[in-house]
Amino acid sequence: MVRFTVLASGSKGNCTVVSGGNTRILVDAGLSCREMFRRMRLAGEDPATLDAIIITHEHSDHVSGLAVTARKLGIPVYFTQGTHRAWVRWLSPRKQMTYAQWLEQCRQQAAARMAEADTSPEDCDTEEAEADEEVEVAATEAVNATAERKADPAPERKDPAPPKDPTWLPVVEYFSAGTPFRIGDMAVSPFTIPHDAADPVGFVFQAEGIRMAVATDLGYIPPNVKAQLKKVDLLLLESNHDLEMLRDGPYPWSVKQRVLSRVGHLSNEAAATYLETEYDGQATYVVLAHLSESNNLPELARITAERALNGRANLLANRLLLAGQHEPLMPICF
Ligand SMILES: [Zn+2]
Ligand SMILES: [Zn+2]
Repeated sequence: MVRFTVLASGSKGNCTVVSGGNTRILVDAGLSCREMFRRMRLAGEDPATLDAIIITHEHSDHVSGLAVTARKLGIPVYFTQGTHRAWVRWLSPRKQMTYAQWLEQCRQQAAARMAEADTSPEDCDTEEAEADEEVEVAATEAVNATAERKADPAPERKDPAPPKDPTWLPVVEYFSAGTPFRIGDMAVSPFTIPHDAADPVGFVFQAEGIRMAVATDLGYIPPNVKAQLKKVDLLLLESNHDLEMLRDGPYPWSVKQRVLSRVGHLSNEAAATYLETEYDGQATYVVLAHLSESNNLPELARITAERALNGRANLLANRLLLAGQHEPLMPICF
């Protein structure tokens, strides 16, 4: 069976479970590990059966629970190289090192960790708290170690344990936008999206003949994305903001400009225009996603998309759903 379960969607966190054949993939990890696991269980998904995590881009609403979850489950994380580098930089603001130095450090720390005893798989909280502090700790430990050596010259004194690396992951796999690949039984087609991140992508997943597209965090829909969204059975499409609400809303002008820009987010109106004029109407499910809580209302997004779909009599069979921020959407099964 093929299943698509949105656990969360919006600027406070994004993650979705896509399963087909014997493969189960977490798309983005933008909630805490504990909350992701809670929502998975609520939706009838077992976290222990995840095979991999795949990341669209490095913004925190897509990666905030990534390291803890990947370590807890011991599963590989798939990134583009650009996104991985940006994520590493984001977690290592105080470190001055080249990418080669960082890779070497990873190798050393991976070896060190292999030697460590495993933590309990249910013990998310401890590591999450640690993860938040790891960057701080790494910096302070380095400073303290120097201070201690200066203050206490006794030769028998033990050095402190090496600082933990907040960017350490069990396995990192790279893919490139435009080059399809497989994770187990799932075929994955990553495609470039226009968004203000290092190397952002959307995906089409295919298993058992069912195609599911994930297209959020894009300023507009360029031709390459339109081509990818053809003949999909499920279309998860951004419907981020209502243009008027955004213009009159609480955001500072600079943020409004960013959201509205060609590398920002797709408005209700832009999503509707696509659905009305270019969408091929093949999807059984259209899921509106990444709705802003400040500049949108679910009903507004729904009505705008419904009008667009209802304007085309042949699309009445399409089922329109809304992905929420605070509760998982019940699994969509094929
Ligand atoms: Zn986002
Ligand atoms: Zn983003």
